[in-house]
Amino acid sequence: MHKKLFIPGPIEVKQDVLERMSTPMIGHRSKDASKLQRDISNKLRKLFFTNNEVLLSTSSGSGLMEAAIRCLTKKRAAVFSIGSFGDRWHEMATTNGVEADLFKSELGKITTPEMVNEVLSTNKYDLITITHNETSTGVMNPLEEISKVVKKYPDVIFCVDTVSSAGGVKIEVDKLGIDVCITSSQKALGLPPGLAICTISERAIEKARTIKNRGYYLDLVQLYDTIKKKDYQYPSTPNISLMYALDYQLDRIFEEGLENRFKRHLEMAEYTRVWAKKYFDLFADKEHASITLTTVKNTRNISVKDLNAILGERGFAISNGYGELKEKTFRIAHMADLDMVDIKELLLEIENILNLQ
Ligand SMILES: *Cc1c(COP(=O)(O)O)cnc(C)c1O
Repeated sequence: MHKKLFIPGPIEVKQDVLERMSTPMIGHRSKDASKLQRDISNKLRKLFFTNNEVLLSTSSGSGLMEAAIRCLTKKRAAVFSIGSFGDRWHEMATTNGVEADLFKSELGKITTPEMVNEVLSTNKYDLITITHNETSTGVMNPLEEISKVVKKYPDVIFCVDTVSSAGGVKIEVDKLGIDVCITSSQKALGLPPGLAICTISERAIEKARTIKNRGYYLDLVQLYDTIKKKDYQYPSTPNISLMYALDYQLDRIFEEGLENRFKRHLEMAEYTRVWAKKYFDLFADKEHASITLTTVKNTRNISVKDLNAILGERGFAISNGYGELKEKTFRIAHMADLDMVDIKELLLEIENILNLQ
């Protein structure tokens, strides 16, 4: 039996979107390939409210996260972490020989604009990374406030991980001054895994040109120059099947309307938070709780493992806590194409299983 996915990636994918992946194959050097990839980039620019170029990578989001920190740091990177995915960005730096410092907040808390200001004011750093929505804790950073601070440091390249928020929450790349905004296909965009997406500013590309040892497959300059020279074709063979699904899904997203989509995500989040507070508690502070997933504090000491096993028999999957939070929390994703009916159905099922009232 198929389990409906309420896990924070991969997420439930609509059948008609899945079916687009069986579109007959085309050559990756054909005019059709150029058109497909050009259309996708144009649509993604609308989704991210940007005039910047868009790069697609046949990798997961982590591929472009690694690319960004490696290709764009000359002096030293300031990596802000509020959980596992922030930590990962720091590991990517050190394993690539990029000088970087990690600034970690307590689990469940945000990166504050004050922290960012204090760190950048040392003038030691020429790149900063921020996790917009930390999927391991269900905390959403105040991106707009942070961006105001980063703007005071015009020589710093601003990289943001929006892997589990883009497509579910409004992210205005140009207004926020984000140089590299990264996401993956399998989260709030509602597609299977296998594609990474980023927007990239002109100044980021110009800076990357001055940096040595950018690698090969994930060299942002090579990706950028190739799509410019070859009309949106990529240096190596991309995941064309997933691109068909992405192109189609972006049309579906605009058909729903971006504002409607963001509103639907907020409604699902608010409903889930009220439920979580009624029967358990929220792991994140209410004002920084994620809009695309809710991390529930396991105040009743239930076995999350057993709950998920029974849910599985009934056709649902949720997520346990991440890492050290495995049994202390559980996570319910409410992103992509899930709606209020799905969420209510899931939460009612949990109430029944646990005899909550
Ligand atoms: C899932 C996730 C990632 C990793 O993305 P992959 O596509 O699995 O490489 C990075 N950051 C955040 C916030 C995520 O949720």
